[in-house]
Amino acid sequence: MKIEEHKSLEALTTLRACGTARYFCIVGNVSELSEALQFARAEGVPLHILGGGSNMLVGEFDGLLIKLNLCGMEWSDRGETVLVKVASGEGWDAFVEETVTRGLYGVENLSGIPGTVGAAPIQNIGAYGAEVKDVIHAVDVFDTGEMRVRTLTRSECRFGYRTSIFKTSEGKGLIVVAVTFLLAKTGTPNISYKDLTRRFGTRSPSSLSLGEVRRAVLAVRREKFPPLDGYGTAGSFFKNPIVTREVYERLAAAHPTLPAFPIPEGGVKLSLAWILDKALGLKGFRKGAVGLYEKQPLVLVNFGGATAAEVESFAKEIAERVREKIGIEIEWEVEKLS
Ligand SMILES: Cc1cc2nc3c(=O)[nH]c(=O)nc-3n(C[C@H](O)[C@H](O)[C@H](O)COP(=O)(O)OP(=O)(O)OC[C@H]3O[C@@H](n4cnc5c(N)ncnc54)[C@H](O)[C@@H]3O)c2cc1C
Repeated sequence: MKIEEHKSLEALTTLRACGTARYFCIVGNVSELSEALQFARAEGVPLHILGGGSNMLVGEFDGLLIKLNLCGMEWSDRGETVLVKVASGEGWDAFVEETVTRGLYGVENLSGIPGTVGAAPIQNIGAYGAEVKDVIHAVDVFDTGEMRVRTLTRSECRFGYRTSIFKTSEGKGLIVVAVTFLLAKTGTPNISYKDLTRRFGTRSPSSLSLGEVRRAVLAVRREKFPPLDGYGTAGSFFKNPIVTREVYERLAAAHPTLPAFPIPEGGVKLSLAWILDKALGLKGFRKGAVGLYEKQPLVLVNFGGATAAEVESFAKEIAERVREKIGIEIEWEVEKLS
């Protein structure tokens, strides 16, 4: 395992904001991971994990950044279902494509999300009416306190909207090394999300193949997200805000067409894209090299050469404008590391 120093991170995160890590290494198995942790301890520096870098804003990180490159998928047939254990360094979308090819139901609506399998449980990735928590059976973690691998059940992961135990102080010392998914051999695609319903018109969900659903999701995503080879982006930069019913009613009185969705955990989830576009007129708003994508204002774009500080300052300005005009706080979906 090679430790590099003063590693430029521009090419390692999809936002492509300029930043560096004091130390950087790529690990291919658990014993290298353990070696890397010992190095960080000996040097007295913090460590952080990097997957595909598609949900991170990295400035100057004075610690060890570890890129996980653990690979492999183990499939086991359980009759009506299939359990598959996937190593954390596998690409998320390559895994989804493989499940669709094998005719397995469960992750097709999550097609096209960039990043690695190991990062999927961290923020409980979701899209088009699906969340990864619904198909996660267990998560194997390297516990940096106990220096051993242990398995968390789905309920121990404490999944919620774009969150999990891994985002809490309790889960910060846990590194995901593999995720086990429970997928079904039969099912009916979920096309209830409006972009998918519109695309399929009058066709009934049961007549659709998994391949058709995957292709439709990928087509919808192409319309919403900028291409990664042309723009620096981390997808949706902010979370959709969840507010109390009282706050929602106050906002709905002022903005009757504000899209809102009651959520099972309690509260109402608001469409931040609508707020940024219709209430604040910020779709396409740009300052220097940073802006909101003209087709989807939740998506922040680095048009080239922006530093992490510039991205952060722009994001703070957006949050401030939402606070002033709407009276609510918004949170980043993207993780900041500096
Ligand atoms: C164009 C675009 C579209 C997107 N669309 C969506 C979407 O529809 N839905 C959605 O939910 N997200 C979306 N995202 C965000 C992103 O793809 C997901 O959050 C993805 O899971 C991040 O994976 P990654 O491997 O790139 O993680 P990274 O960005 O490398 O890391 C993200 C966080 O997870 C931690 N982490 C990563 N791997 C591990 C591990 N093995 N163990 C412990 N911690 C780890 C990192 O330390 C960091 O804090 C999008 C991003 C882009 C660029």
